[in-house]
This record gives sequence, C-alpha cells and structure tokens, in this order.
Amino acid sequence: MSFSKLGLSEALVRAVTEHGYSEPTPVQAQAIPAVLAGGDLLAGAQTGTGKTAGFVLPMLQRLATSAGATRQGPKVIRALILTPTRELAAQVEESVRTYGKYAKVSSLVVFGGVGIHPQIAAMKRGVDILVATPGRLLDHMGQGTVNLSHVEILVLDEADRMLDMGFIRDIKRILAVLPKRRQNLLFSATFSEEIKTLADSLLNAPAMIEVARRNSTVEIITQKVHPVDRDRKRELLSHLIKTQNWHQVLVFTRTKHGANKLAEQLNDDGITALAIHGNKSQSARTRALAEFKDGDLQVLVATDIAARGIDIDQLPHVVNVPEDYVHRIGRTGRAGATGEAISLVCVDEKAFLHDIERLIKREIPSVVVPGFTPDPNARAQPILQRQQRGGGGGGQRRSGQGNGKGQGNGKSQSQGQGRGGQSRSLASGAKPAPAGGSRPAGAKPVATRRFAPKGR
Ligand code: AMP
Repeated sequence: MSFSKLGLSEALVRAVTEHGYSEPTPVQAQAIPAVLAGGDLLAGAQTGTGKTAGFVLPMLQRLATSAGATRQGPKVIRALILTPTRELAAQVEESVRTYGKYAKVSSLVVFGGVGIHPQIAAMKRGVDILVATPGRLLDHMGQGTVNLSHVEILVLDEADRMLDMGFIRDIKRILAVLPKRRQNLLFSATFSEEIKTLADSLLNAPAMIEVARRNSTVEIITQKVHPVDRDRKRELLSHLIKTQNWHQVLVFTRTKHGANKLAEQLNDDGITALAIHGNKSQSARTRALAEFKDGDLQVLVATDIAARGIDIDQLPHVVNVPEDYVHRIGRTGRAGATGEAISLVCVDEKAFLHDIERLIKREIPSVVVPGFTPDPNARAQPILQRQQRGGGGGGQRRSGQGNGKGQGNGKSQSQGQGRGGQSRSLASGAKPAPAGGSRPAGAKPVATRRFAPKGR
C-alpha cells in the first residue's frame, strides 16, 4: 500500500516521502480515504499510531480542492484543530507544515502561556488552518480576534483527554460559533460515556475506524517492572541510566515537586536532566523539550502534562510510576520503532500496578535489579498522603494550560494537573472496554483492524 493509492495528491505524497514515510500506517490507510470522502469520522486511535497524518493529509487535500479554495479576498480559517495541550498543539501544527510543505496553505498555532499579540497579528495576516488549545481560542473569541465563520473542517484531537481536562464547556462554546455545515473528525484513544455523548451530538453518520484495541499498549514496547524501596527510586534510576548507558530517557513523576526534585538529584549524580510541568513557563518547557529532542539533555522529567504531547522519533526509554500508564508508555515505540517502558514500583504502588495489569490484560514482568532488592517487610503507605498540595482538581479546566491566564501561578496551575487525589484511579475513560465496544448511533463501521506495526 502506498500513499498515492489512497488518493492523495502528488504534492502531499512527495512531502511524506521526503519525510521518510514509505507506507501508510493502519490508521492512515483507513482514515485518509474516509476523510477524503467528505463525511464525519470517529477514530479510535492512540498516540503513536500515526493518527496526525491520518487527518492532516486528507484535510490538506480537501482544502486544496473544495469550493473554499477558489474564494477571493483575504485568507480565512477553513480548518480548526483543537488539542488538549500546548505541546500537542505545537506538534500538530509542525506536522501540518511538514505534510503541507508543497501544498499552498498556511497554518498557525495558538495556545496560552505565551503572548497573545503575535497570535493576533498572525491571524490578521490570514491563515487557512488554525491549531489551538480551547482556552486560548476562547480568549481570542472573547476579544473578537478570530473569525471561525468559514470553518469547513473541525478536528477534535485526543478528545478524551480534552474531556478529562474539563474542556467540555469550552468545546461547546467553540462549536456554537462554527458554521453548521462542516466536516467533523473526532480522534480519541478511549471511549467513555462522555465521549460517546459528545460524538453523538457532534457527528453526523460518521465513518468509524479503530486501530488498536482499546486501552491496549502498542505491543512493540517491552514493559518491565523493577520493584524497589520507596526511598531508593532515584538511586535505582541513576544506576540504570549509568550502567545501561541510556542517552535519552523520559521519566514521569506524579507531582511537579517530585519532578523538580528528581531532576535536581539526577544532575547531582552527573546526569543532565530538566523537569517540565505546568508550573514552568512555556518558554522553559519548549526549551527543555528541544534540548531533549536534540539529544543535548539526557533525561527529561515530566508530569502528566507531557504524557501525550511528546513525540520523539525512536525514544528508547520511558520510566514511570504507574499512573496514566497506557498513554505514558506510548511515548516510546512510536510508529514501528521499539522501546522499553520501565516502572519503578515500591510497595505503595502494588495495588495500583495490579489495576494496570488488569486494564492492559497482561502481567508485566517484574525484575529485581541486583543491589536494589526491596525490603520484604516494608508496609504500604497511602499515596494520597504524599500527594502534592493543591493537586486535587481533577476534571477542572487547567488554568494556564489553554489560556495562559494562570501562567506562573503555582496554585492555579496545579488545579487538575496530574489529577491529584486520584492516585488509585486510572485515567477517566480508561476503563476496560469490551472488545469491539459500542459506537454512537448512526456510525458506520469502515474497518476494524488492529494496529500491527511494521517489522512484527
Ligand atoms: P502520531 O500518532 O500522529 O503522533 O505519530 C506518531 C509518530 O509516527 C510520529 O513520529 C510520526 O512522525 C510517525 N509516523 C506517522 N506516519 C508514519 C508513517 N506512515 N511511517 C512512519 N512513521 C510515521
């Protein structure tokens, strides 16, 4: 199967070929013809499957060929892509530029935490495709600096995440100002009742595709648990990084404070590390991510905020405490590459690990690292007691995430960050779903195949 067989124009095929893609991933093979056909789409696809190109490529083609393309006068926003996080928004817009290299379209990304005026100026110059986080887009709407009345295509990317983060009201306010006649594409890794309700109200007889079993982890990732004593996790991490020569490691911690502390301690151990989380300024987050991507930084320590926004080709190692597991390990082993996901688990997290194993329907091999055998008499402490203060805002809108209003304000930022207070519960919407699942009324199944990465 080649990209040209999917009905994409020569300009788009050339761009993806130059970018090194030889053939479409399963989500692309299904989503591209479905979107080109012009109808709505409900796609169950996890991050790492190539879903971004799955909607960006056919969107570019439709924008080039639809009636709106011949419109005279200044450019108007013809496609709107909403994403839950700033990092994801930036990455999606980068993909639009990459795949649209030879297509005559312009794009812009707007999110909070950075100045609004350059965004207003860019919008005035005119853009075809706008990628936005909901909060900042609402700010623009409030100031009258964005015109969404010509939107032909709407994408809700990682819709489950947006709902988890409490963006549903914001999304509804945005939907209310869009033209009624448009194409809607909804991408979600999981299908909670809330997502199904949103899909029912938003989509009109959508094609439905699903490329990975719900809540399954991409299978080319090797998963491993290292049991360890609570207070020796950092020591074990340094030991693994040094003895196994890891050069690019993404580490997840539960709290922002924990991320800062761990990054500091790793630096003390002679390992270059930076933390990224919602209390860091957007420029600090962007800089840390860029250094990490370029290989200048050995370890990036992140809280939940980065779990879905980071896309690094060939990221070999992800280390986490087991929370939001499926998405976190999805940072490694993306689109065909292999990777290793390691969890450092102390006695406090055993029950949680058990929940995860039930969710992904598999036991994760447990390997004790020599010299780090955990104390068999250690008693579990409730994780809640050690949660970061102020982190109990699950489900609320993340201030600062999309609108930038809370930037630099630790207290407001911690609202909803990492779903503090839910230490034992899994990401909402990540409950085990029956195979095949249910689909919203009117949805047509196009195909249901499992994501089978190349090389297996
Ligand atoms: P996504 O799920 O859209 O975040 O994409 C995950 C990763 O897969 C990104 O690093 C893409 O560059 C890569 N990717 C997307 N499509 C392909 C393809 N057809 N062949 C190889 N890699 C791809």
